[in-house]
Amino acid sequence: MVGFWIRIVLSMLAIAGMGWLFAAIGEARSGWLVAVLLLGGWVVYHLFYLQKAMAWLEDFQLDRVPHGSGAWESLYAKIYRLAKSSERQRQQLTETLKDFRSATEAMPDGVVTLDEDNQILYANEQAEDQLGISTEKDAGRNLINIVRHPEFVSYLNSGSWEKSVVIRGIRSSNRVLQVQLIPYGTRQRLLMTRDITQIDRLETTRRDFVANVSHELKTPLTVLNGFLETLRDLPLQEEQKSQYLGLMQIQAQRMQNIVEDLLVLSKLESTASVTQEDPIAMPALIERLGNDAKSLSRDQHQIHCHCSANSILIGAEDELSSAFANLVSNAVRYTPAGGSITIQWALEPDGSGSFSVADTGPGIESQHLPRLTERFYRVDRSRSRETGGTGLGLAIVKHVATRHQAQLLIDSEVGKGSRFTLLFPEKRLRPGPAQSRPD
Ligand code: ADP
Repeated sequence: MVGFWIRIVLSMLAIAGMGWLFAAIGEARSGWLVAVLLLGGWVVYHLFYLQKAMAWLEDFQLDRVPHGSGAWESLYAKIYRLAKSSERQRQQLTETLKDFRSATEAMPDGVVTLDEDNQILYANEQAEDQLGISTEKDAGRNLINIVRHPEFVSYLNSGSWEKSVVIRGIRSSNRVLQVQLIPYGTRQRLLMTRDITQIDRLETTRRDFVANVSHELKTPLTVLNGFLETLRDLPLQEEQKSQYLGLMQIQAQRMQNIVEDLLVLSKLESTASVTQEDPIAMPALIERLGNDAKSLSRDQHQIHCHCSANSILIGAEDELSSAFANLVSNAVRYTPAGGSITIQWALEPDGSGSFSVADTGPGIESQHLPRLTERFYRVDRSRSRETGGTGLGLAIVKHVATRHQAQLLIDSEVGKGSRFTLLFPEKRLRPGPAQSRPD
């Protein structure tokens, strides 16, 4: 800056000196003319470079620095350096913003940045999906005017955001979101949203499960307790006593069945898939299941067995036998006397293996079908109890199927009967040993 003013003063002194020189040699008029011309030239010179600077700044491009001389050259260089450093800062800022956005996009939770009036500044993809907003279209709009859920609006307006809130039904009736507003910076706000639908569903299932187990065990326990009190307080005949003891045993057996099935389920749930690779000869297994069905039925049903393929099924033998036996036992228990039951193993055209149990029982109304594999779900509660059912059999079958990559299919028609099929993938099948032909 000092250098600049020294140059101005020196230029002025040179022009004045020139005038004074001419005046001293008696040429005052031409002296002043020369001085004015020089002054004019000096002004034009600076106007020229000023104009260049203006043109450059108006259509600013960093790499098109105009040529200058003297003070102008250093002025252009200074502008260049300043512009370059601000460009570098802008680039750094853009990079930081990009990093922030990719970090928030990578987050499993929704993030929305808001100003103090709840106007949207930015929302990541998860928040866009969870709240039904779009940064592109809704930036600058008030979030409350877009997400009009009463609980959400009242939380945002409450001013007490220390704790998160759980809100159901934003965008979709069964979605559950955990929402928290965090003020930051001078007046900005960060809205965090987390989809906890799955966790909430698991928690509900757990709660229902505990309630169901307690309920299932409470009934036989109450009955047992009643009999115990009667036996203790009343002088009973031997015959009556043994009748009561028999009834108590049925209730104790019922509790034992429930606990055993619960243990089987919990064991099945402890690992996602089976590692056991037992070769199970299907013809022998079908025959065994047929015999079990006959003894369960006590000759009250016609039992048919068909095994159209001599296959070996690979899997956990104890699990598969228990799943097949559950289907057979259901068919026997729910089919009235005189009905028929068919146990079948066959190969499907696509190479998969199908195990099915069909009965001519009461059938099941279609609205119950999707819920049959839920724990303790029963269509006919009293029939299930009467026949010693726990309500866990099909849940076990479904688990075993999933662990063996098999599908459980249920076809049923009310009044006609039901067919439960387990479809095993081809990779779980091997051809059985060749049968020796009779001579
Ligand atoms: P349960 O121990 O009560 O039999 P399951 O889980 O095995 O429990 O079966 C669930 C319900 O599905 C049963 O309570 C019954 O209402 C129905 N069900 C199962 N198998 C049959 C069948 N073969 N015919 C008619 N209803 C059936």
